[in-house]
Amino acid sequence: MTDDGGFRVMTARTTETVQGVIDTQGAEGDTARWLADLVTATILVRETMSPSYRVQGIIHGAGRSGRLVADAHPDGGTRGLVQRSGDSDPVVGAGAVLELMRTLPRGTVHKGMVSVPDKGGLSSAFMAYLQESEQVVSMIAVSTVMEGNKVRAAGGYLVQLLPELSESMLAIMTARLDDLPSIDTMLRDEATTPHTLMGELLYAMPHTLLADSPLGFQCRCDAVRLMASLATLPRHEVMEMVNDGKVIEIQCDYCRTEYRIEPEQLRGLLSKS
Ligand SMILES: [Zn+2]
Repeated sequence: MTDDGGFRVMTARTTETVQGVIDTQGAEGDTARWLADLVTATILVRETMSPSYRVQGIIHGAGRSGRLVADAHPDGGTRGLVQRSGDSDPVVGAGAVLELMRTLPRGTVHKGMVSVPDKGGLSSAFMAYLQESEQVVSMIAVSTVMEGNKVRAAGGYLVQLLPELSESMLAIMTARLDDLPSIDTMLRDEATTPHTLMGELLYAMPHTLLADSPLGFQCRCDAVRLMASLATLPRHEVMEMVNDGKVIEIQCDYCRTEYRIEPEQLRGLLSKS
């Protein structure tokens, strides 16, 4: 945060996180880049608005063409999903909608939606979301530099304008952002870290580093959670599966881990309920 209380700035390096998401989802080309940018922007918004809550960023593709999902958790663990409609990937651009969901304590969900503008991509959509749904004025830039299916660098920044902001400071920051190379160019430089990015953004502006937190690709699935979700099925359905006597194979959509459930384990659910 700047010492005059005018700006709060978040910077993130998400290279390994988005690589993990892209690899497990088998995302390629534009879809890989959109998904990666969605993951980075969702992380930045979570850190800014609600660092202790889970935040999901969802792009509903134009013309019911599927969805992209980023699922960011307070411990920094983040995962993502490509939900295709038929064989084709979600279409991002005019007609697509960005939705943000924040899970509050006791499971209450706060939601907001904005349309993805024709120009400016996801960064513009996230800025519009923050302004319309959270009354926060911000400048966001995210990018993913790809080499084939390999993420060379991914990251971004979010500059939040605070109520203390003076016009002269705003003018300095606006000029600063105009002078800076594009986020793409900065990420391509191997020397760029969240700290150097912060230093560039707040050059000559006295500021204090408030916090540093780790990020990574991480799924939340495990066998216990899976059994808990099966336990919510109607009893007769579980009974049918037990009577079939087959091993049930279930794959996690996020990380593609395969789970095998033996009829014996299902029978355990019946005796408990
Ligand atoms: Zn998983």
